[in-house]
Amino acid sequence: MVGNGQPEVNIGLVGHVDHGKTTLVQALSGSWTDQHSEEMKRGISIRLGYADATFRHCEGVEEPECYTVEEECPDGSESEPLRTVSFVDAPGHETLMATMLSGASLMDGAVLVVSANEPVPQPQTEEHLMALDIIGIDNIVIAQNKVDLVSTDQARQNYEEIQEFVEGTVAEDAPVVPVSAGQEVNLDLLIAAIEEEIPTPDRDPDADPRMHVARSFDINKPGTTAGDLAGGVLGGSLVQGELEVDDEIEIRPGREVEEGGQTEYVPIETTVRSLQAGGKDADTVTPGGLLGVGTGLDPALTKGDALAGRLAGPPDSLPPTWDGFTMNVDLLDRVVGTDGGEIDEISTGEPLMMTVGTSTTVGAVTSAREGECEVNLKRPVCAEPGAKIAINRRIGARWRLIGLGTLQG
Ligand code: GDP
Ligand code: MG
Repeated sequence: MVGNGQPEVNIGLVGHVDHGKTTLVQALSGSWTDQHSEEMKRGISIRLGYADATFRHCEGVEEPECYTVEEECPDGSESEPLRTVSFVDAPGHETLMATMLSGASLMDGAVLVVSANEPVPQPQTEEHLMALDIIGIDNIVIAQNKVDLVSTDQARQNYEEIQEFVEGTVAEDAPVVPVSAGQEVNLDLLIAAIEEEIPTPDRDPDADPRMHVARSFDINKPGTTAGDLAGGVLGGSLVQGELEVDDEIEIRPGREVEEGGQTEYVPIETTVRSLQAGGKDADTVTPGGLLGVGTGLDPALTKGDALAGRLAGPPDSLPPTWDGFTMNVDLLDRVVGTDGGEIDEISTGEPLMMTVGTSTTVGAVTSAREGECEVNLKRPVCAEPGAKIAINRRIGARWRLIGLGTLQG
């Protein structure tokens, strides 16, 4: 247990729209994650909402009642913090599996929220479970939500449907916890299940820090004079190592530079000037939750998410930057969702949208063979060979997930 209030594990909240993901996060953390409305307009760059919750324990109280998010125990004594977790609330308004998958690359486990008053599965319940399956997230708790709206018999029937649905999937052995997020019923049972099923992963504190940059900002008010300008800020998550104030970092692929009609990407180096984790200033940050990194960069460089999708870490420690690559391809059996048709092989010349980490880029297939293809990217990505890639094809008016790629090189 870290105990400094910094989140130490990322837990995805997934499931069908309106099943209660946001309400559940709110009940556990007291904060509202539906902050995507502005970004919503920007199509595929929808960001994931993060909210931190500190799970606490009451001495001398039996399980599961001993688990709480309140600072005061029923007997008036103060509860002990166990750990702070960060919930990543996947936007359910649109079926943007790429966003879900890119967020999922930072997920250590997931809570699948299933509404007790609807037949199982609803389209996104199925889609999100499939995503967990293909990225191999198997620390899962199923929250059977809205039990306040159904009879005991209906709840049991729905429970059976859930069990049948998860059979043979990555969630097969996941506990199903009946809850009411709206009425705050059984949250203690849910916390107990999360503590049991989604432990904080062992992390190597000596690994080079590596951050996925999901957002970047200029935090200065208009009209700030040059001398008072704060440096550019990066928002994102650390996937390994520890980052400290005064660390030198490199950001790749870096910034976009136009030269003679050609667009190039130039790596950037800067210094970490300040850190924020769990909403508080920190000298050192570790994986888990969302970080704010104040840098010495000209804020013009970070304005408006200009550096979203990049990686940051110590100079010369980052993986290669790719303008194109060959990837192994595992196609899904069919398009997920209600209108799920068959998926044709990838063909040479077709455009694909690919998500690698927090980076989403469009590419053209330059050569397609059975089980693998080569793509040329519109915008380069920085990634380790072996990285997982969510592959989307345009079907009708939307990009639809058709498979999972593995970066070969
Ligand atoms: P999301 O789309 O999965 O994030 O769902 P929301 O959290 O936005 O909830 C959708 C609707 O269901 C809202 O009107 C909530 O008030 C309602 N809701 C969520 N949880 C419960 C619950 O446990 N019981 C009842 N009766 N309503 C709930
Ligand atoms: Mg929501």
